[in-house]
Formats: sequence, C-alpha cells, structure tokens
Amino acid sequence: MAIENRAYDFLVKVVLIGDSGVGKSCVISPCLAVTFPNSYLSLPSALAVLSRFTRGEFNPDSKSTIGVEFATKSLEIDGKIVKGQIWDTAGQERFRALTAAYYRGSAGALIVYDITSRPSFEAVPQWIQELKNNIKVDDGNMQLMLVGNKSDLAHWRAVSTDEGTALAEEYKMSFMETSALDASGVEEAFGTILKDIYGVLSRRPT
Ligand code: GDP
Repeated sequence: MAIENRAYDFLVKVVLIGDSGVGKSCVISPCLAVTFPNSYLSLPSALAVLSRFTRGEFNPDSKSTIGVEFATKSLEIDGKIVKGQIWDTAGQERFRALTAAYYRGSAGALIVYDITSRPSFEAVPQWIQELKNNIKVDDGNMQLMLVGNKSDLAHWRAVSTDEGTALAEEYKMSFMETSALDASGVEEAFGTILKDIYGVLSRRPT
C-alpha cells in the first residue's frame, strides 16, 4: 500500500515562510510557469517537474477555508509513519498578513529564500522574528530549517552556499539548497525536517 494511504503514527504540521516569489508554492505543488531572466523553461524540464508530482511524492490538498494551501508528505522512520502536513501561505505574506492561526500547532518551519535574491536572504531574520512572535521556538520543540531555493539558477546566484550555511549556524537550524525546477534537494529537505521532528517526538515521555 502506498505510504500516503497507510495509517499514520504521527501527524505533524510544518509551515513554509519567506518572502513572496522565493518558490514556496512550487516546492510543494506543480509549477510549470517557471520564469527566469533571459531564458525559459524547456519542455523536458516542465515534464520533469510535473512527473515529480504524478509520482506522488507530495499530495496537494484542497484549499482550506482560512486561505492556506497545504500538501502532505509521509515518511517511515523506525517503523513509524510520520505524516507531514505542509502549509503554504498561498500569497498571504505579500500583505504581511500571516495570522497566528497559520503558525499555531506547528512542529517545524522551513524558512525559504531565493539564492538569486539577496533581499529575500536578508529578510530571513525578520521571518524568524515573526515566527518567534507567534510560536515558542526556543524550547527545542520547534524544528527550523533554512532553505535556499532556485539552486538551478547558478548564473544568477546572489547568495553563496557558505552564507546560507553561516546564517543557519547562527540560528542553530539545518540548511539545504533546493530547486523546485529540477527537484534537487526538495525530498531531502522535507525528509530532514520530518526526521528532526520525529526525533523530538520520540524522545518525549508518553
Ligand atoms: P512563492 O510566492 O514563494 O510561493 O513563490 P512561487 O512558488 O509562486 O514561485 C515564484 C516564481 O519562482 C514562479 O515563477 C516559479 O515558477 C519560480 N520558481 C519557483 N521555484 C523555482 C526554482 O527552484 N527554480 C526556478 N528556476 N524557478 C522557480
């Protein structure tokens, strides 16, 4: 039976945050309209992106009534099924209108920037502050991960991998570069955060 259809042992909420346009929606749902300077998305790349989702690695879910979108991703760890419900802002961050409800109950957050956009990287501390204003992150129960997306756009890189690593170390979070276009790092990023969350849950006294 497909892992997504099996009964889960843990259901955990993970929120995606970061500036508008960094690729949050594209890392969890099919995005074919990839735009980048002086170029265009070739048909083989478009098919590669599409096939990632038809292989069922992420399951886009319907829009909820509070205007967020989410996808689910399950992973088997130590014989347990951990089901991640990954919330996407659905553009609400443009209006700086992420509500407390968006963050409530989350066990992890992926803070996403675009490696070709320095402002999106420089906004990361503000996003961490916004997270801290809404949810307790310092007691070790909230797992954070920094994600530098659009790694396929090497020619337009404005933030080095070393800078990403250093910022992640400063805030004691994991770090990964991803590309929603060629799917590199995406599975690993979600796998890592679900494993980190499972590590905390499995150590909790029952
Ligand atoms: P959001 O506002 O953070 O949800 O960003 P979107 O997911 O809507 O993506 C913004 C734009 O970046 C869209 O045109 C996407 O097609 C493009 N995009 C997203 N991820 C990538 C990526 O990994 N590589 C490239 N080249 N483009 C991407």
